[in-house]
Amino acid sequence: LISIPAAAYMFQDQEAHAAELERTFIAIKPDGVQRGLIAEIISRFERKGYKLVAIKLIVPSKEFAQTHYHDLKDRPFFNGLCDFLSSGPVLAMVWEGEGVIKYGRKLIGTTDPQKSEPGTIRGDLAVVVGRNIIHGSDGPETARNEIALWFEPSELVSYASNAEKWLYG
Ligand code: ADP
Repeated sequence: LISIPAAAYMFQDQEAHAAELERTFIAIKPDGVQRGLIAEIISRFERKGYKLVAIKLIVPSKEFAQTHYHDLKDRPFFNGLCDFLSSGPVLAMVWEGEGVIKYGRKLIGTTDPQKSEPGTIRGDLAVVVGRNIIHGSDGPETARNEIALWFEPSELVSYASNAEKWLYG
């Protein structure tokens, strides 16, 4: 009799906690996939303590790439960038966790790998800006839009991770 309300309380508590966790869109671009860096990159997010809630390997069309990068449509590299993103498989993912949007960008490093610190994904694994292997949403609104662009709601998997009580206390 005592254990039932206690268990229910813990469950509600976990639900409330899960509800406030944010999500971001992360993609390994065709260069990262072709260079065999999928496991390396996933492991950095996974070991940090973030939770994978969606993943798929797709070759985006050029039109899709243009939609994804529409904010950059006036930049001189836009066409080459969209050609490149649609040139091969992209590993699209959604990762969840406290501060994942901002800290995910820290894990990734700055846009230009030459300026990315060692220890970051681009700092450790890429050399030039046009082949910087990974994309990550740059803010909450972009994250929402990019997740909605790349994934159907049914592709996002909500689940309790047993690690959460050790990660968040
Ligand atoms: P980030 O990917 O770090 O958010 P941006 O949104 O500014 O950076 O640019 C999107 C992508 O466009 C970059 O990741 C990179 O692949 C490409 N890009 C940015 N600047 C250049 C550039 N000067 N020349 C070629 N490609 C670029």
